[in-house]
Amino acid sequence: MRLYSTKSPNKFVDLKEAVFKGLPADNGLFMPEHIPTLPKYFIKNLKKYSFQEIAYKVTKTLLNGAIPNKDLKKIIEQSITFPAPVVSLDNQYHILELFHGPSLAFKDFGARFMAQLMSYFNKGEDRKLTILVATSGDTGGAVAAGFYKTPGIEVIILYPSGKVSNLQEKQLTTLGHNISALEVNGTFDDCQALVKKAFLDKECQSHLRLSSANSINISRLIPQSFYYFEAFKQLEKSRKKTAFCVPSGNFGNITAGLLAQKMGLPISHFIAATNANDVVPEYLASGTYTPRPSVPTISNAMDVGNPSNFARMLDLYQSEWGVMKDNISGYAYDDAQTRVGVKEVYDKYNYVIDTHGAVGYLALKEYLQKNKTHRGVILETAHPSKFIDEVEKVLNKQIEIPERLAILANKKKVAKFIEPSFDDFKAHLLSLD
Ligand SMILES: *Cc1c(COP(=O)(O)O)cnc(C)c1O
Repeated sequence: MRLYSTKSPNKFVDLKEAVFKGLPADNGLFMPEHIPTLPKYFIKNLKKYSFQEIAYKVTKTLLNGAIPNKDLKKIIEQSITFPAPVVSLDNQYHILELFHGPSLAFKDFGARFMAQLMSYFNKGEDRKLTILVATSGDTGGAVAAGFYKTPGIEVIILYPSGKVSNLQEKQLTTLGHNISALEVNGTFDDCQALVKKAFLDKECQSHLRLSSANSINISRLIPQSFYYFEAFKQLEKSRKKTAFCVPSGNFGNITAGLLAQKMGLPISHFIAATNANDVVPEYLASGTYTPRPSVPTISNAMDVGNPSNFARMLDLYQSEWGVMKDNISGYAYDDAQTRVGVKEVYDKYNYVIDTHGAVGYLALKEYLQKNKTHRGVILETAHPSKFIDEVEKVLNKQIEIPERLAILANKKKVAKFIEPSFDDFKAHLLSLD
C-alpha cells in the first residue's frame, strides 16, 4: 500500500510513514493510492461474518500486504472489542450506535486502531514513542483509553484548565500507567500551540521520539469504515435504497463512509448533517466553499468552521462539485431545532438520542420526505449521557449514565498544572527523557 498527499498526488509514502507523520509536510492529507473493491460474494454475505472478520477483510484488502495477515488479525482483535449495534426505530429509521466503547463516542474506534497500528510499527525501535495530544475534551478521552497500557508508547495529554467537563477531565486524568495529563492554565489554542512548538523544537526532537494522535491521521479514518459494513449486515434484506446520515464536524466519519462505498458497499446516498457550522452543506448547495470561524452550539463536537477532511472529500471526487452533490446531500439545523429533534425522537420512538444524533435525525427526516421509498441509518456518534445537561433539560427526565462513565466520578484526578509557557512544557518533556 502506498499513500499520497492530497497536495502532491505523485509523491508516495508507505503506511508506516503516513501513520507516524500524521500530516504530510506540504499540509495536505494522506490518501491511499488505490481504493480496491471487495469481492461481491463478501458484500452479499456480510451476515456470515463477525464484526472483527468484516474489519479484517476490509483492512486486508485496503492495506494490500502492508502488514502480514497474522499481525493484522491481532491488530483487529485488539482494537475492535465492542459492538456497533443497529437499533431500528421503524422500517425507515435506523440508528447505528457507535458509543459502546470506553469513552462513549465513535472516536474510540479510530483511537484504538491507531494505537494498535502505532504499537505494531513501533516494534523493533529501542526508544519509546511519546505522543502529544492537545484536546478540548472528546478526542483526549478516546486517545487516552485507546493507548492505555500500549507497550513502548507514552501519551501526554494537554487540556485547558476549567474548560472541559468534570467527567471529561476524569477520562483524561485517572488512567495512569503510560497516560499522563497536563492541565494548562490557558485555552485549547494554547495547548495546541505548545504541542506544535514541541514538534518544531530541535532539542525536543533529538531527545524524544515524538508523534501526534491527530484526528486527520489515516489510521483513524480506516477503522471508521468498518461499521458501515457492520450496519448494513444488520439491516433486513430489502429492495429499499439505503442512505447513511452522518452528523459531521471535521467530516472524518462521512469520509470513511465514502471509502466503504468506494470499496463496494451499496450505499445509495450520504446525508451530511451539521449544526449552525454549515460550510459543507453550503458548498453542496452552491458550489462555493467559504470556511469561517466556528460558532458554539449544543452539539459542540461538530463546532468546526473549516473541516479538515473536506480536502479528502474533494480529492475523492476530483473536485467535481456536481458529482459530489449527486452522492451527498447537506442539511443544517440550529440549536432550537436540535432540541425539537431530541424531543421528537423520544416522544415518537421512546429512544433517547444525543444532540449530535438529533441533528442527524432531522436531516434524515428531511431527506426521506423527498425520497419516500428509501430508508436511512443515522450514525449515533455519542451516548446521550455525554451531553446529559442538555438532553435531560429537553426531555425533562433523568437519563442513565453507563457504569464505565459513572465510576470515573470517584476516581482521583492526577494532572500536572502548568502555565502556557513553552519553556515550562519543554522542561517537563526533557525531564521524561
Ligand atoms: C467528533 C464527533 C463528531 C464529528 O465527527 P467528524 O468525523 O469530525 O465529522 C460528531 N459527533 C460526536 C459526538 C463527536 O465526538
